[in-house]
Amino acid sequence: MTAKSTNPAYTRSAVPSEPENELASVNASARELLLWEESLGAEGFPGSKPGAPQSRTAGESARSEAMEDCQARLKVLADDAATCARCDLSKGRTQSVFARGTPDTDLVFVGEGPGYHEDQEGLPFVGRAGQLLDRMIAAMGYPRDGVYICNVVKCRPPENRTPLPSEAAACAHFLVPQLELVQPKVIVALGRCAAENLECVPPAGRWRGVWGEWRGVPVMPTYHPAFLLRSPEFKKPVWEDLQAVLGVLNRELPKRAR
Ligand code: SF4
Repeated sequence: MTAKSTNPAYTRSAVPSEPENELASVNASARELLLWEESLGAEGFPGSKPGAPQSRTAGESARSEAMEDCQARLKVLADDAATCARCDLSKGRTQSVFARGTPDTDLVFVGEGPGYHEDQEGLPFVGRAGQLLDRMIAAMGYPRDGVYICNVVKCRPPENRTPLPSEAAACAHFLVPQLELVQPKVIVALGRCAAENLECVPPAGRWRGVWGEWRGVPVMPTYHPAFLLRSPEFKKPVWEDLQAVLGVLNRELPKRAR
């Protein structure tokens, strides 16, 4: 398995609030990038020699190749899911629903399973709950497709019921490598089912808003957007959870959301 680049120059950082801080941040990033490229065998700033053709830096090329490899492996998984019959959910699906968004991200949302609209369109979170999730993502300062979104099970359970443990276990065949390929810095588990399958529900006590961990990745369990549509009074604690996620990602809250 090819890991994504760990180039420090590409890691997301907090947005500087002052021009001098911004300049210092740009200088620091440029220095990190130069050190990274030198470690890959590059000499000096790329393209600095007179007449040298403009080309991608070694760091950019390595990162691009790693991402292409990641996307190719995810496509193999998605193609496998499209014809999968590892559990009985295959019998009622219109199509499997693998993911939406980009694997080139630091943030992944994991939900429960596809509903009616998702089953019809082949994409996760495209119904009313998906629209609410999109607003939550926008409030966090991400573009709609700037995160990666998937579910515990890839096929719609009958009447939108919670996936059975056996179904979730069968579909871990896809979820586990999916998350390992994307390598997010934080996972948000949407709803108890997702939190349970990411092993982040304690035997007793509160589960929402309590940081867990899945294979070394911090997991924030919070309420599912479908639950928030029915119980909007819980939007505030969910927003607090998402702000905690931004803190771990070292990202500032967008000004309009403060
Ligand atoms: S839910 Fe997952 S394991 Fe079950 S049939 Fe669909 S893709 Fe296969």
